[in-house]
Amino acid sequence: MTIKTRFAPSPTGFLHIGGARTALFNWIYARSQGGRFVLRIEDTDMERSKEEYLEEILKSMTWLGLEWDEFYKQSDRFELYRQYAQKLLDEGKAYADGPAVILKMPQMQLKFFDLIRGEVEFDSETIKDQVLIKSDGSPTYSFACVVDDALMEISHVIRGEDHISNTPKQLAIYQALGFKPPKFAHVPLIMDEEGGRMSKRSGATAVSDYRKNGFLPEALVNYLMLLGWSPGDNQEIVSLQAAVKKFSIKKVNKSAAAFSMSKLKWLNAEYLKKTPAEDLVDFVAPFLKEKGWISEDYDRNRILNIVELYQNRMADIEEFLQRTAYLFQEDFEVPQDLRERLLSQQQTRCFEDLAKALETAEPFSKEKTEAAFRCCVEEKGLKMSEVVHPVRVALTGSDVGPGLFETMAVLGKQKTLQRIQLASF
Ligand code: GLU
Repeated sequence: MTIKTRFAPSPTGFLHIGGARTALFNWIYARSQGGRFVLRIEDTDMERSKEEYLEEILKSMTWLGLEWDEFYKQSDRFELYRQYAQKLLDEGKAYADGPAVILKMPQMQLKFFDLIRGEVEFDSETIKDQVLIKSDGSPTYSFACVVDDALMEISHVIRGEDHISNTPKQLAIYQALGFKPPKFAHVPLIMDEEGGRMSKRSGATAVSDYRKNGFLPEALVNYLMLLGWSPGDNQEIVSLQAAVKKFSIKKVNKSAAAFSMSKLKWLNAEYLKKTPAEDLVDFVAPFLKEKGWISEDYDRNRILNIVELYQNRMADIEEFLQRTAYLFQEDFEVPQDLRERLLSQQQTRCFEDLAKALETAEPFSKEKTEAAFRCCVEEKGLKMSEVVHPVRVALTGSDVGPGLFETMAVLGKQKTLQRIQLASF
């Protein structure tokens, strides 16, 4: 049997975290079995489906790296659904109610085996005759879903637990149509940290928000994968490729997963450390442009140096922008408390001379600035530690950060000298 899974979003909203995880599990499972992954857009609700949502879903899927092998849109297939409804009418398995077509509930056992939850049973009383084609001629979700899953030869339907009650209704449609049902796996929902349903209030829910906020797709994918599944051995950093090797539906948790922003941030920081600095330049550049800190023809080498300095010191782009603002912004002010603690008259008395010494550093590199700085400090009979901290505060507005001379090199000669002079009495 060829394994084939599908992700079937409705373009009635942005791709959210829960949907992305469903897509991910389907993708990983298909890849792990050498199977195929279908992306099917369920846009039968013409009123609520929007082109902008569809575009955003495709963009987010691509950004996450979840490429698909086949693509369908249900709005292209209305004729097909009508044909199958007609067939059921002809066979007496459905009846018409005006333009609507309604399935007579067949006598059957409403029981199925879920790959995650095991045996699931429904009370047959709860399943009534169901609408297949609505009076406006459009198919219902369950009817289009079953026709498509059957015709597309989907072998495994992996979807959110919120769809579990649709499964018996869909099994009735399979039976009426004479199609063999696929295997089902219903994935537990994602809860927020308080145990409520993930909502806007518990953090960003749209995948595009994470992209806009500067999360790496690899980190988000890794995080989503751990929401309900674990590769074992307490392993937390798992690439898609590694997950493909280890994934098993049976190991997906039965209980709901809780979303943790701090864990996602931790993972993002880990991935930032691992990403080649060259690639991170392309990653941070759009954010720096948006801030107006660099122009289209920015100095790539300078940004590379900055990225190398901060790559291990940030959990997300927000933190990167916050920590590097001093490198780009002209109107620079040292916070009052640091000024009082580290930029007293006594502490800055050598600043004039330091600026003069640094002026001779050519090129304005880490090595040359350090040599000029040391030389001046020794001449004055001072200790490096007495001077390094005040100068760092004068240059960056912060008392923590990367090495002082690396900082000087990326800040550049003009700004370095200016800020040291400005801070001296
Ligand atoms: N269009 C449905 C949704 O977005 C798909 C459900 C399914 O996977 O069967 O929830």
